[in-house]
Amino acid sequence: MTAASDVVPGTYDVVDPTSEQVIRAVPMADVEQTDAAVAAAKAAYGPWRAVAPADRGRLLRRFAEQVDTHLEELAQLEVANSGHPIGSARWEAGNVRDVLTYYSAAPERLFGRQIPVAGGLDVTFREPLGVVGLIVPWNFPMPIAGWGFAPALAAGNVVVLKPAELTPLTALRLGELAREAGLPEGVLTVLPGAGPVVGRRFVTHPDVRKVVFTGSTAVGKAVMAGCADQVKRVTLELGGKSANVVFADADLELAASSAPLAVFDNAGQDCCARSRILVQRSVYDRFLELLGPAVAAVRVEDPSLESSQMGPLISARQRDRVAAYVADAPVAFRGAVPDGPGFWYPPTVLLDVDPANPVLTEEVFGPVVVVQAFDDEDDAVRQANEGPYGLSGSIWTRDLGRALRVSRGIEAGNLSVNSHSSVRYSTPFGGFKQSGLGRELGPDALDGFTEVKNVFYATGVS
Ligand code: NAD
Repeated sequence: MTAASDVVPGTYDVVDPTSEQVIRAVPMADVEQTDAAVAAAKAAYGPWRAVAPADRGRLLRRFAEQVDTHLEELAQLEVANSGHPIGSARWEAGNVRDVLTYYSAAPERLFGRQIPVAGGLDVTFREPLGVVGLIVPWNFPMPIAGWGFAPALAAGNVVVLKPAELTPLTALRLGELAREAGLPEGVLTVLPGAGPVVGRRFVTHPDVRKVVFTGSTAVGKAVMAGCADQVKRVTLELGGKSANVVFADADLELAASSAPLAVFDNAGQDCCARSRILVQRSVYDRFLELLGPAVAAVRVEDPSLESSQMGPLISARQRDRVAAYVADAPVAFRGAVPDGPGFWYPPTVLLDVDPANPVLTEEVFGPVVVVQAFDDEDDAVRQANEGPYGLSGSIWTRDLGRALRVSRGIEAGNLSVNSHSSVRYSTPFGGFKQSGLGRELGPDALDGFTEVKNVFYATGVS
């Protein structure tokens, strides 16, 4: 097996998780190079901010068109770098295009308010922040990058983007496409590097005015603590342990057939994964009867195949991490994985887990789901709200009143009723509790990339 390691000093060997082969050695920025990139971004900020709103929108639309033209290339790159099924990777590249298109309308719609006061005119402006440091994880390299840079750029900021060590390839290509689309140099800079080097420098650098971080809750807390020193703005998208709540009156066939991909999509490496299925006790056995074949039907295979629904995990380290969670838990049933190389881990269903087992409360970030029973509505909400996270979740019921009550009762930022959808570019996304801080996407994201300025213009005495 070829390990991802620093064989050439200052470079990182990017590994294809399906073949386990090194596909490219990527230079890693050090602190000096990070400072130089921040300085170049700062120099680009004034001119970028001054670009007329309609022109800024036009440039973002051109960037979106470039992404669209290169959609297949970006998708194939993600299959190689991340092991995402090709169908998912195409969706991810398309999402970057769509998010750019959505926010290309924002420069001309960053409205302030006029507030009635005596003696003059009072108006608010939404000013950009300056240099934004974007720290991206390895699980969705393209969408998570786009959710940060598209609204940030639309609001007049400039962006330095650090991809995850494991998955820099699509981010690097997006940086090139931005330049080809006509975005001036320094407006979007992609800077591969180590988290504790480049990411940390974003936190400590006085000219980086905001950090947008997606990743583990542990590192997110350290980023937030570091930002406090400069009262630096921060958006955090962290872990999740989301519940898929199935009531006895639900369409059980649909709930059971859709449950596997609600957690095993992206091999479970998804902060929105519905990794706890809570089933009303009266239909628990029936639900499990339906779930077994649905899990077995998940197509775990070479991600370059059109039919693939689940690829390998991102790394051997992640596979070990996932396996450690399952070591002491009773496996009820699991799917199959291909033979040969690749960081494969089968879709795995756990039942009757000891209440003290961390697999019930911690984010596994792998294709592992726990099924538990609940008694009534209050019990369902209580169980769904257990633990430190509050990102996502699903509710299955045909009772509209119950759907409303339970969706208001669950402490999570993104819920879906009778479906598993949680991310749309036009609606806000983010977490309650330790799942995060702030909102990405939709109209709300622009609040995170602007400061409100209030100005009073005295009209004088007439
Ligand atoms: P991580 O939090 O270490 O890495 C996320 C990003 O932060 C990467 O770009 C990394 O380089 C950067 N980073 C690391 N240390 C940093 C520091 N000190 N300062 C600034 N930036 C830093 O996550 P990981 O180690 O790649 O994954 C570990 C676990 O985190 C996963 O198993 C999963 O549970 C969780 N995770 C969650 C998400 C999510 O979307 N919520 C994404 C990735 C990982």
